[in-house]
Amino acid sequence: MARIVVLPPDVQGQIAAGEVIERPASVVKELAENALDARARQIEVQLASGGLGRIVVRDDGEGIAADDVPVAFARHATSKLARADDLAAVPTLGFRGEALPSIAAIARVRLTSRRPDADAAVAAEADGDGARAAGPIGAPRGTTVEVHDLFAVTPARRKFLRAPATEVGHVVDVLTRLAVANPTVGFRLEHDGREVLSLPAVREPRQRLVQTLGRERATRLLAVRAAADGYVVHGFVAPPADALRSARLLWTYVAIGERGAARWIRDRLLLRAVVDGYDALLERGRYPIAMLFLEVPTGDVDVNVHPAKLEVRFRRAAAIHQLVAPALRTALAAALAPAGAPAASPRASALAEAAPAYGPPPTLPLGRDTGASQAGLWAPAPRGFASLRFIGQIFDGYLLCEGDGRIVLIDQHAAHERVVFERLRAEQDAGRIARDPLLVPETIELDATEAALLGEHAAALETAGLEGEPFGERTFLLRSVPRLLRGRDAGALVRAVATELAEEGASAAAARATHAVLATIACHSVVRVGQRLASEEVRALLASMDGVPVAAHCPHGRPVAAELTRSQLEALFHR
Ligand code: ADP
Ligand code: MG
Repeated sequence: MARIVVLPPDVQGQIAAGEVIERPASVVKELAENALDARARQIEVQLASGGLGRIVVRDDGEGIAADDVPVAFARHATSKLARADDLAAVPTLGFRGEALPSIAAIARVRLTSRRPDADAAVAAEADGDGARAAGPIGAPRGTTVEVHDLFAVTPARRKFLRAPATEVGHVVDVLTRLAVANPTVGFRLEHDGREVLSLPAVREPRQRLVQTLGRERATRLLAVRAAADGYVVHGFVAPPADALRSARLLWTYVAIGERGAARWIRDRLLLRAVVDGYDALLERGRYPIAMLFLEVPTGDVDVNVHPAKLEVRFRRAAAIHQLVAPALRTALAAALAPAGAPAASPRASALAEAAPAYGPPPTLPLGRDTGASQAGLWAPAPRGFASLRFIGQIFDGYLLCEGDGRIVLIDQHAAHERVVFERLRAEQDAGRIARDPLLVPETIELDATEAALLGEHAAALETAGLEGEPFGERTFLLRSVPRLLRGRDAGALVRAVATELAEEGASAAAARATHAVLATIACHSVVRVGQRLASEEVRALLASMDGVPVAAHCPHGRPVAAELTRSQLEALFHR
């Protein structure tokens, strides 16, 4: 390991400085990152009083040479960077030499470290007044940093902190993010003497996800890997049915090159690419579970733009979108293949969807996770929807069918919507969506924002067969409608499209806007819940479902079908 040196002033000047330490979790992040940079195999964290009383981070990494220990507390002292040029290829999580001095400025710190080849450990103490050597002592290999009385000298900052449990929650998040990127390292967290998190070292990334997301979710994850142009993306995404109402489990990491440390970042571009990868599969306002790692060639990412290193700047944003979105699309399409795909044992996801229909989960025998690989997700009608025996329509909106060893329920509206959406999309891909010109253009009253959005996305509307233009500030003049919608209330449709576009935002990519428009058209053109269907209509619908690529979800990502297997049914009656 390199010696710790104070960076020359020109390099110091190029480093994004800032207040790094906001709360106990920031201290843990910096210290655990240092442990990872020192190639620790095991990282132990102890907190007292939510971290305000004491934070201890212990690792079994390479340690610090005796002479270097006091230097580590100097501002801009680092062993990870020598020249400004190195910033473009920094392989470690740290590089600024700011964490230890920043922590010492607001707390009392004691650091003990022993290199594997050293006879004894050395200790140093540091606080706002500077760092002092505290003599050799006996200690195992590695480094321990103890932080006492955090923010005692800055009571204003202390006031901003939440209850200890909340602060511990932030520490759990920080450690979990690091742990997901470093499965072969063990992590443990204790708060006030009680174990809060225990992630023993594992061999495979997926095993770490079993530890952090739970076995059921982790088993359903789909592997993703793609490369182009020096960029690589790999990791895991969950099927759309697992999506959440927030992006809290949509994690993205970036590394410089194959050997660079994976850095957890928040990045709008990556988030967008992931959501676009799910395409029509996500319900509005839902975010997928995804754990993705992006490797970027040297020089294409600047990791030195955010004080807490939580954001980066990409040089070729488009290349990333072009890699990530299709990679996800491919992985999801393969897994969600419709009828004809290999039948999997019923999955917990499918059961969870089915659960409300059959009463509370105590009565419903939730299937055991088989631990099988992710290949072949749930297929409610493995031999095709047309092969199902239609029993009847229930609650005027659901089709009750019997299939091989299972009862299948279909949401008629969601199913029809999916079919129409896919047909529209196929028409669009093949050239042009069939449309009918209106003999007299229809004037549609809107509010000013809606009118502006429709103007903005005129191209997307046009593609979908809704030709027209804004007329004055609050009116849209519609000249053609998609043929599918002949005879329907075009005004209601256009207003619904405007609402969808408003949710997408003015800057939505053209493809996304088009998708929103097609989904709205599909939704408006199809049978509603509450509409009686003749059995020929049902049979036609079932047959048409077999022709669409992803049968299990409507364009808004809601499930189309749910099932109850024979064994579940029998279990209900204790057979
Ligand atoms: P940076 O990580 O940006 O280099 P820090 O202030 O976090 O800056 O740490 C300063 C230096 O102290 C590091 O460059 C490293 O050499 C050393 N160091 C800190 N923590 C550890 C640790 N746990 N194990 C080994 N070395 C460490
Ligand atoms: Mg550091």
